[in-house]
Amino acid sequence: MGRGVMVGVTVGVAVAACLVAGVVVGKRVKSRRKWKRVMGVLRELEEGCETTVGRLKQVVDAMAVEMHAGLASEGGSKLKMLLTFVDNLPSGSEKGTYYALDLGGTNFRVLRVLLGGQRSSILAKDVERQPIPPHLMSGTSEDLFDFMASSVKEFVEKEGNDSESSVVKKKELGFTFSFPVRQTSVLSGILIKWTKGFAIEEMVEKEVAQYLQEALIRKGLDMRVAVLAYFSLLIYSEQVNDTVGTLALGHYHDEDTVAAVIIGTGSNACYVERTDAIIKCQGLLTTSGGMVVNMEWGNFWSSHLPRTSYDIDLDADSPNPYDMGFEKMISGMYLGDIVRRVILRMSQESDIFGPDSSRLSVPFILRTPLMAAMHEDDSPELTVVAGILREVLEISDVPLKVRKLVVKICDVVTRRAARLAAAGIVGILKKIGRDGSGGITSGRTRSDVKMRRTVVAIEGGLYTNYTMFREYLHEALTEILGEQIAQHVILKETEDGSGIGAAILAASYSSSNSVDNDTDTVQPL
Ligand code: ADP
Ligand code: MG
Repeated sequence: MGRGVMVGVTVGVAVAACLVAGVVVGKRVKSRRKWKRVMGVLRELEEGCETTVGRLKQVVDAMAVEMHAGLASEGGSKLKMLLTFVDNLPSGSEKGTYYALDLGGTNFRVLRVLLGGQRSSILAKDVERQPIPPHLMSGTSEDLFDFMASSVKEFVEKEGNDSESSVVKKKELGFTFSFPVRQTSVLSGILIKWTKGFAIEEMVEKEVAQYLQEALIRKGLDMRVAVLAYFSLLIYSEQVNDTVGTLALGHYHDEDTVAAVIIGTGSNACYVERTDAIIKCQGLLTTSGGMVVNMEWGNFWSSHLPRTSYDIDLDADSPNPYDMGFEKMISGMYLGDIVRRVILRMSQESDIFGPDSSRLSVPFILRTPLMAAMHEDDSPELTVVAGILREVLEISDVPLKVRKLVVKICDVVTRRAARLAAAGIVGILKKIGRDGSGGITSGRTRSDVKMRRTVVAIEGGLYTNYTMFREYLHEALTEILGEQIAQHVILKETEDGSGIGAAILAASYSSSNSVDNDTDTVQPL
């Protein structure tokens, strides 16, 4: 090989090396640029979801203002502020065996609750859950209610020989009926329309409790339907509006309970209002001077809510645009899908999630429990995140820093949800003068204000199972109220308000009708 050839080869190798290096550097620059774009999307998300205490306080005020407006006139606010006609809440002294029938959708449950007469002692509870046979959902009212009444009968008879059943006594039953009903008293509500696949036209615009009562009589059951524990007017809501049951259960355990909040698939709240503050229903009289109002707070809206393009798109793609704006930001039905939308956007801006996955475009494919599992993944390599990305979204082999990014997105979305829910709760407290702000005007500082112990009953799968959500909510509550006041506000978790709560409500209505009336009346303030 001559010298000239050697030089030529060396130069050639050097040129090739430069080219390779150039490609590598070029790739790095490109990937850095892509990462920068993704970080831009994240920053935008964080800014869009910002919930400073200042902003949360604006949401608090907006909630209180909307509550006023919804109480002032029908249609005065996006908050429907429905009257429930519940003016007696359980005191804890109720005794005896009570039943509940919970027709929530495709299933119904019969419950028996044995109350011992002393607060906190629910001695026993039995539950039997059954599917409604599909043909009964669009058959006749008689067939549907006879079917349920038979189950109740069987259930009651299974009670056997225990002491309670041998006493000849009318049994009391609370009926939770989760369809749109116009309530006219505790006992009576008129079905506005069927939802969730039911279609028994003859019942529309008729009294619902009547059908159950008649079916019970046909089955030879001496039972009184004590309360129609049904509370929703919301046509689109697929949610069981069981907040009143939750409030009843909360009040049974703790008489300082003034409100109840549910944060599960959907979200709603109710609270005890003074009847004279319910302006849209002039002359409303209750013995207690108070009444439970079902807010339907999922439909709350305010321009102070921090809204992102993902929320706008989610709303536009939903079957009920412009409806349930608050619920779409805070409840379990939606949080996972907001996260999916952010990941989708990032994957469109870059290839950090690898080649396009068609799964990412499937609405609601990322359920909120999966999102929670990723958020709470504490393995050093984030193996849970990797697993869910792979199995659910068909995104494989993403580096650790991308997995960390996914955790961050979950965090931003959940933190906003939890903090807004906290602001909603404080909004209720503000409306009823329990937020500790009452004394500020007279020159006293907040810490001087005498604050009454205030309990809010809370339940729902999102709050109960998602630890980070719960912690963010508690943290925000303290931030908004200030530590001094927050000490007096207690969130108490209840369990199964829609079932047990309805039975206990039946109990309190039963004893309030008896001579030795020791049921608590609802004390509004
Ligand atoms: P519902 O609201 O449908 O009556 P639940 O109160 O049990 O029923 O709430 C169920 C909802 O809670 C689910 O739809 C889901 O959004 C949420 N959820 C359940 N488990 C978890 C979990 N582990 N992490 C986060 N969210 C959860
Ligand atoms: Mg529920």
